Amino acid sequence: MNFINAVHPENKPYFRAIATPTKEIRAGRSNMSISCSQCTTASERANLQRCGKCKSAWYCSKDCQKKHWPFHKIGCKETSADIPKMMQNFFSNALLNHVLQIALALAFKLHEKPIIGTPFIARCTVNVQPADVMYYMQTIMGRFTDEEVKKGMEGMLQILTLVPLDPHKDMDYARMELWKLSSRTAAERGNVGVPVGIVDMQMKGEVHSQSFGIAITDDAVKRARSGTGFEMESALLPGRKQVPMSEQACIDFINMHIRSDKKNQLRLRTHLSKEDIDKMRGASESGEKNNEGVS
Ligand SMILES: [Zn+2]
Ligand SMILES: [Zn+2]
Repeated sequence: MNFINAVHPENKPYFRAIATPTKEIRAGRSNMSISCSQCTTASERANLQRCGKCKSAWYCSKDCQKKHWPFHKIGCKETSADIPKMMQNFFSNALLNHVLQIALALAFKLHEKPIIGTPFIARCTVNVQPADVMYYMQTIMGRFTDEEVKKGMEGMLQILTLVPLDPHKDMDYARMELWKLSSRTAAERGNVGVPVGIVDMQMKGEVHSQSFGIAITDDAVKRARSGTGFEMESALLPGRKQVPMSEQACIDFINMHIRSDKKNQLRLRTHLSKEDIDKMRGASESGEKNNEGVS
């Protein structure tokens, strides 16, 4: 896979040229490996059923779901914004997955010293931001008209941070099973002897996360080693600039690519309800208070 440009959200032909088709994202999602929340058996998503209320717990059988309920009911909330599905769409997206692999290669220095036969683990914190740049600016400043808040608005998934975790502390039995299955799947797809790790995807401010296995292909390691970054066009300033390769450049590329997806081809957009916007408003207002006296 080869690409160097992340472009202005208005550049439609370029977005179309590099974006992964919806059909492929859907197919990838149903083949994805997920663990049963009760017995931790890792299986293809298509074989598992999920909690219909919070949509973030997965079960291999009705029996497992029943056994798990006393533990699961704490924190199981009704949700309309299908965040777990968006996280799966993110991982099933060939281009975004590839750029995340490069970011992980850099974060764990896999291009200098590969980690083979043992897992690495990272936490990726995400949130859902208003899809419109103007709205985004208004969120930061906490300014919405009541009319806008009432009807809600379109939001999109964005990556905030990618942080390496300690495998000795943060790998539990379920993640280990998922890692084993992901290593086998990677080998079956021709990625033999490559680093394989676990990424915990977590919504900012939420306790629960969803774990994904990820194999770092030779292509991604090569790209990390080459240092060749991205050519980015700013949404706010005219002209292009060459951005050197770094973890942050990868995250910026991913976020820009999702922002460019006006028609939701990537299935990373959702409706933000009044409650969601209120939460954001609250967060930015307390943020402003903390910054008092700093300008
Ligand atoms: Zn089970
Ligand atoms: Zn639930």
